[in-house]
Amino acid sequence: MDGEGGGVNAGSTNPYTTSYKEDEYMRKPWVDQDACIGCGLCVTNVPQVFRLADHDKAEVYDPGGETEDTIQREAVDICPVSCIYWRD
Ligand code: SF4
Repeated sequence: MDGEGGGVNAGSTNPYTTSYKEDEYMRKPWVDQDACIGCGLCVTNVPQVFRLADHDKAEVYDPGGETEDTIQREAVDICPVSCIYWRD
């Protein structure tokens, strides 16, 4: 009858804090597939992030699969045609 079933939540915990990852702040790599020559270096070096798509161009399937540092060193820096970029 009262209808007061614990609806008071002033100052309650933020539901986003527990499962919140730094994902929101990470830059995400992406491949310019028009420029990619499908050499596979990025896929070989960082298979957690890159894969070859059906048309033999690399694509990013898990941008958070490795650290930015590793992606930079093992993919961005070694891509022979420099077609891997970062996007915020
Ligand atoms: S290293 Fe560069 S050119 Fe080679 S597959 Fe990856 S994105 Fe394409």
